[in-house]
Amino acid sequence: MDPTTTPSRELDDTLALLRQLVAFDTTSRVSNLDLIDFAEAHLARHGIASLRVSDAGGTKANLYATIGPTDRGGVLLAGHTDVVPAEGPGWTTPPFTLDARHGRLYGRGSADMKGFIACVLAMVPAFASAGLHTPIHLALTFDEEIGCVGVRRLLDVLALMPVRPRMGIVGEPTSMRVVCEHKGKVALRVRVRGREAHSSRPPAGVNAVAHAARLIAFIGELAEDKRRHGPFDPLYEVPYTTLHVGVVRGGSALNVVPAECSFDFEIRHLPGEAPDALLERIGRYADDTLLPTMREVAPEASIDFTPLASYPGLQVDAEAEAVRFVQDLLDDRRPPGKIAFGTEAGLFHARCGVPTVVCGPGDIAQAHQPDEFVDVEQLQRCLGFLGRLRDALGASRIAGG
Ligand SMILES: [Zn+2]
Repeated sequence: MDPTTTPSRELDDTLALLRQLVAFDTTSRVSNLDLIDFAEAHLARHGIASLRVSDAGGTKANLYATIGPTDRGGVLLAGHTDVVPAEGPGWTTPPFTLDARHGRLYGRGSADMKGFIACVLAMVPAFASAGLHTPIHLALTFDEEIGCVGVRRLLDVLALMPVRPRMGIVGEPTSMRVVCEHKGKVALRVRVRGREAHSSRPPAGVNAVAHAARLIAFIGELAEDKRRHGPFDPLYEVPYTTLHVGVVRGGSALNVVPAECSFDFEIRHLPGEAPDALLERIGRYADDTLLPTMREVAPEASIDFTPLASYPGLQVDAEAEAVRFVQDLLDDRRPPGKIAFGTEAGLFHARCGVPTVVCGPGDIAQAHQPDEFVDVEQLQRCLGFLGRLRDALGASRIAGG
């Protein structure tokens, strides 16, 4: 680590900030406003105004700020403030108290992704005093972990701004490797309604569990077809689009023909392969194959699909300016990576036209786990990167910026 690009003061500040960020329980189901207040005050101390974009109830908020000139696009640094629950077994220290051991910092969100946010906040004084020619924009979002929900309100506002970021970096944990692609996801709940009857007279009813099972089996056939016939992208760990049923609920007693069954399924698709065709086939199987026989007995029978969550895949060209720019700052000549997990980067790109890559400290293997941690060395690398970003944007405009 080059000490000139990572002064120990900034590392000390990062650790102190991370300690405070982890101490805010920002599990997605609760408010993130304490953390947002904290970040807003931190920015204000360095003369930076920020914009809040709240949820409908005012209990959660995104924060958006620009450091440097406001009349031109710049580089967006984005991260979600919420974390997944930490109630599960396996924690050896309290999850919302940062614990430093053997070069690692343990705590919920340390890797995903408060470590990145702490680095960015620690660099705010350096960004603010750099006389940036090209601005740095910060976006802190909420409800990412439940389907990239919160950021959409920010994107609605961003889309109307006269000046938008020219490129974006979402600091999800990639061990500071540049990622330019990830899969998209769509998740749905299916509710099958038949007709109840005594189980001694099955023909008098319409068995919702049995019909749901047929639809689940059909989804399984589609999954198998994708596994065998692709399309394939070998750069993904699972190199094809997947379909998966994760939850089934139905029936009340063995001696009752069940009238209701619901199940949840998801499609995780290659970014170039829209899930619409698969959804249409599933819907058609329900409409054309299942419902007609169900309605012979029970005209009120139905199969309804309710969207639960979705986000687009990310697909930024490996030669794109955003990819090259970040790779140059990292001095990383490897081809950009593709990751299995979803991020907000695809939404920034698809909804606001901001080419966005994923690059941040820590390893996704530690995310969503008990004893989540980030290596101090990863935070140092991130600070080094942000220092070079400041130097690059202070010295000159990025091309056309
Ligand atoms: Zn995350």
